Amino acid sequence: MTASTLTHGLWGRSAPAARDTAPLDGDVQADVAIIGAGYTGLSAALHLAQLGRSVVVLEARDIGFGGAGRNVGLVNAGMWVMPEDLLTALGSDMGSRLLDFLGDAPREVFDLIDRYAIPCEAQRTGTLHCAVGPKGLAEVRDRCRQWQARGAAVEVLGKAEAARKIGSDGYEGALWDHRAGTIQPMAYARGLARAALAEGAQIFTATQVRDVQHVGDGWQLRTDGGTVRAGALIAAGDAYMARVFPELATQQVILPYFNMATTPLTPQQLSEILPEKQGAWDTQEVLTSFRLDAAGRLVWGSVGALGVEAGVHRAWALRDMVRLFPQLRGVTFEHEWFGQIGMTANNLPRLHVLGPNGFAVAGYNGRGIAPGTVCGKALAHHIAGNLPLDEIPLPQVTAHPAPMRDIKSAALRVGAALVHGVNAVRPR
Ligand SMILES: Cc1cc2nc3c(=O)[nH]c(=O)nc-3n(C[C@H](O)[C@H](O)[C@H](O)COP(=O)(O)OP(=O)(O)OC[C@H]3O[C@@H](n4cnc5c(N)ncnc54)[C@H](O)[C@@H]3O)c2cc1C
Repeated sequence: MTASTLTHGLWGRSAPAARDTAPLDGDVQADVAIIGAGYTGLSAALHLAQLGRSVVVLEARDIGFGGAGRNVGLVNAGMWVMPEDLLTALGSDMGSRLLDFLGDAPREVFDLIDRYAIPCEAQRTGTLHCAVGPKGLAEVRDRCRQWQARGAAVEVLGKAEAARKIGSDGYEGALWDHRAGTIQPMAYARGLARAALAEGAQIFTATQVRDVQHVGDGWQLRTDGGTVRAGALIAAGDAYMARVFPELATQQVILPYFNMATTPLTPQQLSEILPEKQGAWDTQEVLTSFRLDAAGRLVWGSVGALGVEAGVHRAWALRDMVRLFPQLRGVTFEHEWFGQIGMTANNLPRLHVLGPNGFAVAGYNGRGIAPGTVCGKALAHHIAGNLPLDEIPLPQVTAHPAPMRDIKSAALRVGAALVHGVNAVRPR
């Protein structure tokens, strides 16, 4: 694994080992070539192999190196965008289809986990979107009303019930989404890779694609170790896309996000804090997320990078955790890591046509576990001839670098450090 403790932290260490893979060495021909071994690329590979297509995945580093091995592990149904705003943004036809597609996506994830017996700490007890103050409560009530109007299994918990489920009375209530859950994200990525290999896909790691050309009636991908020729292409690098199709990454503004994991909590603490093991996050703009892993560590996350500002975030995280859970005073963090979330202008993912039979979906806006899984599957079915492209409910967009991307990305990083810096010293 080329990852460091600062990139994949707890997830890199506690996930079952990946199956051995090697760099590409020689020239290979396949029906489909896929760039990137995250959820999108691996789900596409698995489904293409199930459909009898020969498929080659080329991964620059290791399985799950990008967002897939670093995230919080919340298997969410839908995006941040409110359902009604999504309908306004995409129109009622595509918007409705996208809401159904993403609303059902966690089921697809848990079905794959069951079918391939992927050991990834899967919990299907839902997620809690925790309301901060009256404004937060109004927001989760509105979100609940909009989802319930579509028949989704969501409910608002009042203050007392939320306090029981969270183990803290720090919130005014919470939206409990029964469709959702949590996983160990790196373990899910490695499990998808194992399943794809078992179905006959080939995966080459430490194999960066350096150049892609459409030549004749297919695609030619050049790496240091050899070339892949394929009739169809999926570029699945999302916010970590490197070298080729740079516009797929640069259309996204980078939101850094870190996680810190405590030492395992005591049985008494575990009986009080998230006793049903929902994953949780709150309604603040610089949000806080928290969840347990299988060993009983509390994984605490928020916006920010762990560069020179790491100490600020660490101080804030310890203080914020104890503010919500006073019984954790004295508990320390034993792992910390961070990654980059790619945000698009309208906070929605996009479908890109890169050329004849060449596709990408990118811009999951911090919601890529379930959406990446179902988008990879949809691209696989399209390439296999089972699904017309316009039945994938995503806007087809030409990617352009986001205006002032670097400035906006830097502002998010600095802004998060300032907010946490102020909150870490503010008297309560
Ligand atoms: C800290 C953090 C927290 C998050 N929390 C959540 C969460 O709780 N729930 C949720 O649903 N989502 C979350 N996300 C988002 C989620 O992780 C991503 O949306 C998801 O990983 C996207 O999957 P992907 O397969 O499209 O891309 P990635 O998982 O990023 O994988 C892309 C892969 O492509 C490879 N690659 C890039 N360029 C090349 C090249 N030229 N040649 C070969 N390989 C290449 C990269 O090395 C990488 O491994 C979070 C993300 C981060 C960073």
